[in-house]
Amino acid sequence: MSKEELLHGHLELYHHFFSYIKSMALRCATELGIPAAIHRRGGAAMLRDIAADVALHQAKVSHLRRLMRVLTVSGIFGIKQQPAAGSSSSGEAVYTLTPASRLLVSGCGEHDMSPMLRFLVHSTALTPFFSLHAWFRADEEEEEPVAGGGGGGGGAATSLFEMTHGFPRWEMTGRDAAYGAVLNDAMAADSRFVMDVVLREGGGDVFRGLGSLVDVGGGHGAAAAAVARAFPRVKCSVLDLPQVVSQAPPDASDVRFVAGDMFEYIPPADAVLLKYVLHCFGDDDCVKILRRCKEAIPVRDSGGKVIIINMVVGSGSQRNIFKETQALFDLYMMSIDGIEREEKGWEMVFFKAGFSAYKIMPILGFLSVIEVYP
Ligand code: SAH
Repeated sequence: MSKEELLHGHLELYHHFFSYIKSMALRCATELGIPAAIHRRGGAAMLRDIAADVALHQAKVSHLRRLMRVLTVSGIFGIKQQPAAGSSSSGEAVYTLTPASRLLVSGCGEHDMSPMLRFLVHSTALTPFFSLHAWFRADEEEEEPVAGGGGGGGGAATSLFEMTHGFPRWEMTGRDAAYGAVLNDAMAADSRFVMDVVLREGGGDVFRGLGSLVDVGGGHGAAAAAVARAFPRVKCSVLDLPQVVSQAPPDASDVRFVAGDMFEYIPPADAVLLKYVLHCFGDDDCVKILRRCKEAIPVRDSGGKVIIINMVVGSGSQRNIFKETQALFDLYMMSIDGIEREEKGWEMVFFKAGFSAYKIMPILGFLSVIEVYP
């Protein structure tokens, strides 16, 4: 290797070693309320203003500059130099919001993805990855079988999540109310965002003309409530596990909640919505869920369909940021025994479950809307 190659390899390694510092810095800034502080000052704020607004300890203001440097070089915040009064030299730095940090403005922003950040950059999500290599080597025969966990059974393997925490993900949400709340809030935040984009961009056509919709694994009903608001004639209901339904906020009043197990029974409706559900499960479980969906909806000629919101790996933009985000998301899902599927993976589970056709609509950035027909 040439000296240049050696040094570039060395640089690249450090760049990757410290990738987690980026997510941690982002979480820190969001917990401190920095995106909201910049937003309240009209989208541009100086360090001392941010420090005052987020109640920073006086002695830590210079440290805040270092945190902001990480987040500006990585493009989360913008930075510009304020011209100093009466001189040509540059004055204080002014920090601005970017399209990414605008989505982390809590409380007053149009969209707030901070609950998803809190969920994904959370010790429960992170600690399993310290044992990923051990999980790869673990002998399935010697492992404890997967417990019921809300009927998700059927998977022979123990997930990395279960190996670490002792319970599968959907059992954990029932046992640890705080973890369940963090997860439910994260999903609701994402659903408000995604549904807003779907309904705004004409993707709302997928819901037009329906008489009823059941959002299976619909969490606290954010997606169903968005459809009900946009299409008041569509009767919307949510099926989710008892521990989720019992904590649903009362304000989703135009949505009916049903506590149950999607592996057992799905209430009948013209269409089933599955957002961020099938990627949580392996192929056999997906086929089981989809068969239950097929039983719940009318035939194709009567408008029956399943609407899936998830990613189709490899579809859409080929830019590296898309490919990398999809690959990382898939590895994260692998930790709970889920899969992010390529088109052929989707097609296989659809046809195995007895569906006849599907349509992929890549209208959601790295995610897609997929309609599946009986
Ligand atoms: N669709 C929601 C939540 C996705 S997270 C959204 O995108 O915002 C997956 C959801 O599936 C969780 O709410 C979880 O409680 C639910 N779930 C998992 N196993 C289930 C089962 N067996 N029956 C019904 N819901 C289940």
